Amino acid sequence: MNILVLNCGSSSVKFQLINTDAQLIEQNTDKRLAYGVIERIGGPALVNFSVVNTDGTSRSQREAVPLRDHSAAIEKIMQWIISPEANIPGITSYTDIAAIGHRVVHGGEELTKSMLIDDEVIRQIEDCIDLAPLHNPQNLKGIYAIKKVFGGTAKQVAVFDTAFHHTLPDYAYLYAIPYQFYRRHKIRRYGFHGVSHRYVQFRYRTLLGLERENVNVISIHLGNGCSICAIKGGRSLDTSMGMTPLEGLVMGTRSGDIDPAILEHLAHKEGYSMAEVESVLNKQSGLLGISGLTNDMRELVAEAVENDDRRAKLAIEVFAYRIKKYIGSYLAAMNGASAIIFTGGIGENSDYVRSKITSGLEWMGIQMNGERNKATTRGKEGKISEDGSRLEAWVIPTNEELMIARDTFRCVMGLESPR
Ligand code: AMP
Repeated sequence: MNILVLNCGSSSVKFQLINTDAQLIEQNTDKRLAYGVIERIGGPALVNFSVVNTDGTSRSQREAVPLRDHSAAIEKIMQWIISPEANIPGITSYTDIAAIGHRVVHGGEELTKSMLIDDEVIRQIEDCIDLAPLHNPQNLKGIYAIKKVFGGTAKQVAVFDTAFHHTLPDYAYLYAIPYQFYRRHKIRRYGFHGVSHRYVQFRYRTLLGLERENVNVISIHLGNGCSICAIKGGRSLDTSMGMTPLEGLVMGTRSGDIDPAILEHLAHKEGYSMAEVESVLNKQSGLLGISGLTNDMRELVAEAVENDDRRAKLAIEVFAYRIKKYIGSYLAAMNGASAIIFTGGIGENSDYVRSKITSGLEWMGIQMNGERNKATTRGKEGKISEDGSRLEAWVIPTNEELMIARDTFRCVMGLESPR
């Protein structure tokens, strides 16, 4: 079954075309056929498409073309996918795409698993706009655009970033503010990156041949956005992002945890509106804010190592220290774990950052293996701690698109998705 996976942002659409079915899932041999991104939709858009060759290499094509909205962008993607120029085996018309899987950021309290999209599901996603005003409207644009481009009969599935965390107990998801605000406005912690944390625990248990109930790990997703998840018995017990993705770890441009009294103080001192304060915390803080240089961890590590830049070193220090504190608190919340697992652009690629995070955790039982840590980059998965380390450390590259494609297949076939 060929599944088109879509991730729609405010002015961008990312896609992957994945061939999957029950047997391919079982054997972990699902195939990515093509992928790409269209950016700057609404003006002269930048289009970047790639086809995956049989030997795993890709051939790419770039162009700039005016695209007025998400429908035009998706039409552009589809026309390319079926074109002789792309020459994707087995795909020559829209009917060769069996279903479309959408990444949807917020499913609220009701949408706790991947769902075949119908009018009721659309209404529920709309209900969550209040909780994710920046993201859910963009995801809906993608869903409407598919209806327009494919006609009303296309099978669409929504896969929610929040769903994996629906198992959080009330004592982990409640904020200590008057309970009526939870009742009235649904103010609570939801957590995000659920597709990634779920993939990581699934892959870990497959690699080790464990039953889900026996998976007790801490998954650490470090990309542009960063979050950490305590997974007990294969289920999310706690996670660092909250009602929005702003809470928790230090991120590329987001502050993560902060004393809420700072908001009013900053507004008063700088003459900011509340919207401006929120924008500072979301877009000018984190690694960028502390270093004053960049939100790109690669550049920060280079500045720290090659130029001994004080603020770059400080940004990495604050970033790693926050993660250490979360690891400690989650080990306490879970009554111990068997492994911590790194994923995301930074987690998968930076042995430097991983060693900063894990140094000083020997008392907790981590014994790192320096060689394994250094050798594990660019899509490699494996253990980076010593054999026999009481708490293991692993790297497992995330694959959210694959998870979305598999859920889409299962929803279309009426099969239950393993969480
Ligand atoms: P993601 O959002 O998962 O695509 O991750 C993006 C982040 O990964 C960016 O901040 C990059 O700087 C970071 N990244 C990618 N490769 C490396 C690397 N080799 N060392 C450090 N950070 C990296």
